[in-house]
Amino acid sequence: MKTIGLIGGMSWTSTLEYYRLLNELTARRTGGSHFAKVILYSLDFGEVERIQHGGRWDEAAKLLTEAGRALKAAGADFLLICSNTMHIVADAVQKGTGLPLLHIADVTGDAIRRSGLKRVGLLGTKFVMESGFYRERLEEKFGLKVLVPDEEDRDVVHRVIYDELCKGVVAEESRAAYLEIVRRLMGRGAEGIILGCTEITLLLRPEDSPVPVFDTTRLHAEAAVRMALEGEGMPNTSRI
Ligand code: GLU
Repeated sequence: MKTIGLIGGMSWTSTLEYYRLLNELTARRTGGSHFAKVILYSLDFGEVERIQHGGRWDEAAKLLTEAGRALKAAGADFLLICSNTMHIVADAVQKGTGLPLLHIADVTGDAIRRSGLKRVGLLGTKFVMESGFYRERLEEKFGLKVLVPDEEDRDVVHRVIYDELCKGVVAEESRAAYLEIVRRLMGRGAEGIILGCTEITLLLRPEDSPVPVFDTTRLHAEAAVRMALEGEGMPNTSRI
């Protein structure tokens, strides 16, 4: 079994989900008491948040690359960045560490393509919804049409992530606000919704949404488990 290196803490509330999912999915797939081999480098999110909001992406790349190198030195075989937003610097991290990196947008694009849906709404931080790095990757590599909420709704989605979900606050009011935003995206033709922030899984459950949701945290963890077990001759090598 390969060792998974997590660049996490962005925030810790979603990294917990990753840890739980990696172990549950490994056990399910191997059918025994095998659990995932994981090394976690958990960053101080306060530092990350300041770098993001200051647009200091070179500094972000340096910080995450250092974390990735530490994971490599500790024995990680491949890396996951446990945040959609911080994939802005994914290429730099991959280059700077020389380790394979499982890109969260690719894993998500692949799942949407397999579902047959073509027009999807995207919820995430403003960095994810407003800069091209994520949306364009999905559109160009996977042939999808990606819709983002209007400006007022983007403010709400962003604020709830930073002020609530990253601090472990899950509020019924915010769930209702997100569902309204989902409905408005559906009104514009969205057939599915990307939970494009690794904390949104804490707020929106698949059963809450009238259309299919693509939970990037779960999809990322599933792909990591497949990659870790590849070539292991484990009994269930099909999709989880
Ligand atoms: N975890 C979040 C994401 O998936 C937001 C926190 C961050 O900015 O890293 O984008």
